[in-house]
Amino acid sequence: MTATVIDGKAFAAKVRGLVQAQVANLIEVQGITPGLAVVLVGEDPASQVYVRNKHASTIEVGMASFEHRLTVDTSEAVLLALIHRLNADPAVHGILVQLPLPGHLNSELIINTIDPAKDVDGFHISNVGLLGTGQKSMVPCTPLGCLMMLRDHHGSLSGLNAVVVGRSNIVGKPMAQLLLGDSCTVTIAHSRTKDLAAVCRGADILVAAVGRPEMITGDFVKPGATVIDVGINRIERDGKTKLVGDVHYASAAAVAGAITPVPGGVGPMTIACLLANTLTACCRANGLPEPVGLTA
Ligand code: NDP
Repeated sequence: MTATVIDGKAFAAKVRGLVQAQVANLIEVQGITPGLAVVLVGEDPASQVYVRNKHASTIEVGMASFEHRLTVDTSEAVLLALIHRLNADPAVHGILVQLPLPGHLNSELIINTIDPAKDVDGFHISNVGLLGTGQKSMVPCTPLGCLMMLRDHHGSLSGLNAVVVGRSNIVGKPMAQLLLGDSCTVTIAHSRTKDLAAVCRGADILVAAVGRPEMITGDFVKPGATVIDVGINRIERDGKTKLVGDVHYASAAAVAGAITPVPGGVGPMTIACLLANTLTACCRANGLPEPVGLTA
């Protein structure tokens, strides 16, 4: 069997198109421009690239982008004061603090200071609790992107066996909650799981969020299963730097029914879902109906 490739790049372009159309409508009919504020502390090269991409994508869909670049030695008090200002600013509907923060800053405190209604990353403890109890929340972007692709591919996910490998707060746990919300039977695997390959072979939907290059090989995959590879790993191969996922693509694609590639799978969906969340936050803040096709 050769798996169908789930084209995250094309799907993300479709999602951005939906966001753009709804933003244009919001501006024209309501006179409201959704706004996203991104806060970057320090000069981590990877974070700088992410922030630049977020800014460009925000502008592209017609939203307002507010960038706040602070020096690496910024004090907690200064950062908290900025977040309070953004919380109070009616032009800002979404706030994202780029992680990781420098070590002297308390990330949990910073994230939990963001107004939960503007927490477009979905990391605030209130949003975690709302998602866990099946209530309306802001949903973390990467798992939301995975869910959208799975719904698009399968239609209903009800009754399917899903295995999520990884239990981080930003990917594994919210992914599992979302799949449970769509009535999958969910198993969360991690580094202490016994016979991981056998656990994974029970999955109709296998989500890999491990952070280990190409760890999930074809013998972890049930024939016909859908494999979602969240991993982004830079490795050296044949003297070149290469981007690979947590799934060994060639061997898994030979067994799976459908699979996301790296690059071009989950990655592009993450920014698309950040824009979707900003639009959702803006609609909610203004008492307008939720945007169509862009929420969990
Ligand atoms: P974390 O390091 O926070 O979590 C990794 C998880 O994998 C942990 O729960 C860990 O288990 C588990 N794990 C590690 N080794 C093994 C193993 N040998 N067997 C089974 N489980 C194992 O990573 P993240 O969740 O933040 O990220 C996961 C991957 O997703 C990374 O490659 C990251 O780069 C990528 N990523 C991609 C994004 C995108 O936009 N596409 C966004 C965010 C992340 P334990 O808890 O027991 O230690």
